[in-house]
Amino acid sequence: MQKIEHIGIAVKDIEESNKLFAKLLNSEHYKMEAVASEGVITSFFQIGEVKIELLQATSKDSAIHKFIESKGEGIHHIAFAVEDVNSEIKRLKAEGFDAIHQEGKDGADGKIIAFLHPKSTNRVLTEICSDKHAAE
Ligand code: ZN
Repeated sequence: MQKIEHIGIAVKDIEESNKLFAKLLNSEHYKMEAVASEGVITSFFQIGEVKIELLQATSKDSAIHKFIESKGEGIHHIAFAVEDVNSEIKRLKAEGFDAIHQEGKDGADGKIIAFLHPKSTNRVLTEICSDKHAAE
């Protein structure tokens, strides 16, 4: 793993949270992006090398909706940048981690992403991601 790429935060109202985090971080979000396959809309803030990703559910089937129903708003996942998502999934599975995605898939912000199941990572939902263009 190379660095923490971003921290994902589940929110109920992304417009309200954009205003809140702009005040908190003293910086405006630089993009919003819907990820239809995940049933979420995302918003990104750049803080030094690390990003903050706000996530709001757009459907009741979304993992973010279920997360907020059971735990409320708050930190949802930590994403680590890796060189290559697919080879990292193989390495992590060989180490005994439980992969939610068996191969990288398209995520927000031009990334290939995959998640590990939190039951295998001390309940920290963990994402690994790499730049899409790097994988081509
Ligand atoms: Zn993420």
